[in-house]
Amino acid sequence: MASVATAGETEENQERQHQKSGHKSLLQSDALYQYILETSVYPREPETMKELREITAKHPWNIMTTSADEGQFLGMILKLINAKKTMEIGVFTGYSLLATALALPDDGKILAMDINCENYDLGLPVIKKAGVAHKIDFREGPALPVLDQLVEDPKNHGSFDFVFVDADKDNYVNYHKRLIDLVKIGGLIGYDNTLWNGSVAVSADTPMRKYVRYYRDFVLELNKTLADDPRIEICQIPVGDGITLCRRIK
Ligand code: SAM
Ligand code: CA
Repeated sequence: MASVATAGETEENQERQHQKSGHKSLLQSDALYQYILETSVYPREPETMKELREITAKHPWNIMTTSADEGQFLGMILKLINAKKTMEIGVFTGYSLLATALALPDDGKILAMDINCENYDLGLPVIKKAGVAHKIDFREGPALPVLDQLVEDPKNHGSFDFVFVDADKDNYVNYHKRLIDLVKIGGLIGYDNTLWNGSVAVSADTPMRKYVRYYRDFVLELNKTLADDPRIEICQIPVGDGITLCRRIK
């Protein structure tokens, strides 16, 4: 927002001030985030997604869920690219999965993987109520062996329109090696949490929670790997904890 320079404050100074705050964060306050949620996100959130969000809020690991604004963003992207065949790695209770399932056409398909099916079981009744469970092929177990199996069959190459990766950050580079073959040229891979609590932009000796510190190096490595990969175009979106969209170009 432009503001008028006060006496003693040169335009140049003011510009520098804007650059400074701009570098700290795109959003100027928690109130602004709340404004976005209350004005543009919650009023348009499907009833079943609201229900699943409220169920998930009671879960002790609720911090893992996709935020409502990111869910809305995923839905928009999926519709823009006319996605039909997608994959999700890391389901938890299924908020992003439900956002995806609602955005796909009735004959759309999602291969969804998670090592834990108990949390998915919490969300499944709501997904069924939304009438989209038939689009989901849920596999319980680690994702990497499933990807290896898919890569073995050339029929799967270039067959996915969209992949959302939101699981073990120490495996993202391994996922990328496989997913680049499985997503079609022009298709998208979204790697979630690529700003990793903001820890990617602070020095290593900054105090941070243990799990943030543990995965930080893997996220830093992923971000470099994606930026260096000539097979994709990338865009780092500061929604949620940061999602990097990768569009396969070769
Ligand atoms: N997308 C989910 C949502 O919208 O609520 C959040 C996913 S949560 C951040 C990460 C999930 O990845 C957890 O449910 C965890 O069980 C799963 N996970 C961890 N390691 C995995 C692996 N090797 N393969 C598949 N899923 C894994
Ligand atoms: Ca996430």
